[in-house]
Amino acid sequence: MIPRVNQAVILCGGLGSRLGSLTASTPKPLLPVDGRPFLEILIEEIARQGIRRILLLAAFASDQVRDFAAALPAKLGFDMTVELAIEPDRAGTGGAIWHAREQLDDLFYLFNGDSWFDVPLAELARALPADPAVVGALALRRLPEAGRYGVVTLSGGRIDQFAAKAEAGSGPVLVNAGVYLFRRTLVDALSPLCSLEQDGLAVLAAQGRLAGLPADGYFLDIGIPDDYARAQTEIPAHRRRPALFLDRDGVINLDHGHVGSIDRFEWVAGAREAILRANRLGYYVFVVTNQAGIAKGYYTEADYRAVKAHVRAGLAEIGAHIDDERFCPFHVDAAIEAYRRDSDWRKPAPGMLLDLLRRWPVDAGHSLLVGDRDSDLAAAAAAGIAGHLFGGGNLDDFVKPLLTETRA
Ligand SMILES: [Mg+2]
Repeated sequence: MIPRVNQAVILCGGLGSRLGSLTASTPKPLLPVDGRPFLEILIEEIARQGIRRILLLAAFASDQVRDFAAALPAKLGFDMTVELAIEPDRAGTGGAIWHAREQLDDLFYLFNGDSWFDVPLAELARALPADPAVVGALALRRLPEAGRYGVVTLSGGRIDQFAAKAEAGSGPVLVNAGVYLFRRTLVDALSPLCSLEQDGLAVLAAQGRLAGLPADGYFLDIGIPDDYARAQTEIPAHRRRPALFLDRDGVINLDHGHVGSIDRFEWVAGAREAILRANRLGYYVFVVTNQAGIAKGYYTEADYRAVKAHVRAGLAEIGAHIDDERFCPFHVDAAIEAYRRDSDWRKPAPGMLLDLLRRWPVDAGHSLLVGDRDSDLAAAAAAGIAGHLFGGGNLDDFVKPLLTETRA
């Protein structure tokens, strides 16, 4: 089982001086990319992978970060918290973490607020050894040449040199990408005024206490004017992904008829593995489920959410996640008046799919739906999505030939 992580900590304190007048009054992570603050896009990428506690480490112009944090949960529509920790003075990246030590979970992801590395976060959790002496795992980018970056070297999965100068023409290298998973004990290696990289990570690496995960994936640092300009088109292009839409009952769990409690929930063989496969290949995974059992009074919305949390926890055990979900509690023959409605969300109508297609940057042409009824396929067809009828058996075996590599 891989460790469960529910917190992301984001460094937002940088002055952004390389961007000149752009960041004179706006913190770099709040600069707009494709019409939204970059930080909002970064947090959306984190939250869709199941992380629901966000902690922003801020210093410069922290009022703007505070306003941003307060508005974000409603804007993104996730059941999430966004907290702030303000450094007392310019404490450096390590000092910022040290000052926030009381707000840290035992395990937390850490991100630079001005860059994006598109790696599946669960893979980083998988890379962290159980040995508590290992303080963290770093996502490492593969580059053909070191260029201006410090090089990280790995030995048996452990980092043995952090940010060393590479010889010119040394060939392919690994560099730190600013995406980490840490134990809270990282704080013991930091001080009120220090650099995470030079003071913390370099020392921990020399002690063999950092794991490294070489990864490929899109990377961009908006801290350089040319790259900030490229971000406007490249980031939206890279976030446009195909989606795997899944019906729930009969696809994710066996359809025992109106499953509204955990004791009646039974995984379909290969369902978790199919979702993990789609996650790794870079698909959004969305659930679209008719829940007329709520309208008929068999169970409540709270019961439905308890089952949803059970699914989420079961997926997290193997490092899989559902990005977003829509359910339709309405039915024309509802016993409960509040749910008596002919809803355009109820399959075979496509409302739930259309809502997700509006909400997320989906490549509809390469997307697909897997359902176990004709009404699922009708909803997919009405939304312009290819539909596939699952007749039972192992879901992973069923989806494997339908999915293709999407990561650029
Ligand atoms: Mg079904």
